[in-house]
Amino acid sequence: MNSKKYILSLDQGTTSSRAIIFDHHGTIKSLAQKEFRQIFPQPGWVEHDPDEIWSSQASVTAEVIAKAGISPREIASIGITNQRETTIVWDRYTGKPIFNAIVWQDRRTAEYCKKLSTEGKTEMIRKKTGLIIDAYFSATKIKWILENVEGARKKAENGDLCFGTVDSWLIWNFTHGKVHVTDATNASRTMLYNIITDEWDAELLELFDIPKSMLPEVKNSSGWFADTSGDTTGFNIPVTGVAGDQQAALFGQLCLEKGMAKNTYGTGCFLVMNSGSEPVFSDNQLLTTIGWKMDDKITYALEGSIFIGGAIIQWLRDELKIISSAAETEKLAADLKDNGGVYLVPALTGLGAPHWDQFARGTMFGLTRGTGTAHIVRAALESIAYQVHDVATAMMEDTGQTIGELRVDGGASSNNFLMQFQADILNARVTRPSILETTALGAAYFSGLASGFWKDTNALKEQWQADQTFDPGMEQKMKGELLKNWNKAVARSLDWIE
Ligand code: ADP
Repeated sequence: MNSKKYILSLDQGTTSSRAIIFDHHGTIKSLAQKEFRQIFPQPGWVEHDPDEIWSSQASVTAEVIAKAGISPREIASIGITNQRETTIVWDRYTGKPIFNAIVWQDRRTAEYCKKLSTEGKTEMIRKKTGLIIDAYFSATKIKWILENVEGARKKAENGDLCFGTVDSWLIWNFTHGKVHVTDATNASRTMLYNIITDEWDAELLELFDIPKSMLPEVKNSSGWFADTSGDTTGFNIPVTGVAGDQQAALFGQLCLEKGMAKNTYGTGCFLVMNSGSEPVFSDNQLLTTIGWKMDDKITYALEGSIFIGGAIIQWLRDELKIISSAAETEKLAADLKDNGGVYLVPALTGLGAPHWDQFARGTMFGLTRGTGTAHIVRAALESIAYQVHDVATAMMEDTGQTIGELRVDGGASSNNFLMQFQADILNARVTRPSILETTALGAAYFSGLASGFWKDTNALKEQWQADQTFDPGMEQKMKGELLKNWNKAVARSLDWIE
């Protein structure tokens, strides 16, 4: 145990592969990152080359160990976290992918999904998987590959093909094709996994016409998956933690109790709440998903995503050109005494949860001759917080739990004005941790708990640190006024496109 000083965390994301080495205190020892190609064969289609996913991940793995100046023997175990839902199908015997990875963003199966909805499959799929029918999830992507790649269907029926999300693909390669596994969080995003019975679902496999032999074995998120082969990591290292990125972030934020929630303020926002040992099905079209599986017990989560979060700040910078950097928005907004009555609804691509209107479009209200750049900037920042408020409120309604504290990460969480406004409008404490790499940290935690690197979650709580907390301080009356106007603005943005 003493010679094992580090955990290696692999974070295979949508645009880059990253590797981070954490020490016993959860501090970053070194980090390596490599971008890879995004392939857009047609409008709405998004692919990755699975060999590039593997080679970029393998190269940052070697690089991060070299940068840290440590021996691979000092690494206790590996944790893997990954872009979710992205679908890879490969030949069991050659190990070669039969098609590019179809990325979660890819819309090629949208029409088929619409057909499933009109055929009345929505409730059945929701009850079993917790998901709404959408091209986002893996099932329809696998089906597309089997139907469109020559010879694929026959090979699948012969048992010659493997399907995996990116975690499965990485472990397959780290073991030279000896191990075909995934974890329960990744399985729960395929739309083939029954999150209640905790197994691949026969009725769904039949509906999508996918042979069971293609599927990986589903394991605990924290537990032994495989040992890497020595030539891939310099030494055989056990992989003992795997989880999809948002779930890993929830764990990395130590949202371990029912009702605890985290929000990531990136391009979009991802709000995820721990809903405890029972799944909660939303009345607001939030997703029900597996938060993690440990010691054969499932912790469920509710998830809501917001399409435009930090992206509205990019839009101010790159399209309106009224700011030159995202960072300057904090001072511009904070220097005003109030919002000047200006509200911006960032429905640039429609509105997601809980409004769900793909025909909504962005709008601004309350402009007067006194409105200046700073008011628009402030309205944009506030709009991020209002949207998070709306999803959080839907979650609280669905679960009957109050969110007393929101843990935050992602690029825009560095904005103190936004964080204070979030605390005020949500009437909850906002906590920003000192380590913002919560996704990689969560994978490290899953792994380190299973390998005995950390004794238990209490050990994690001891080392987890807040960088800053923001407590709500706004008067009820003021808050009510702001939300009333925001709701009025949202209502007027809906159903714009005909
Ligand atoms: P992603 O992982 O989605 O690429 P990041 O977590 O890197 O996103 O966050 C980047 C986003 O955060 C951008 O949309 C950017 O506009 C926004 N952002 C970054 N810094 C700030 C800031 N200080 N204030 C407001 N928004 C910010």
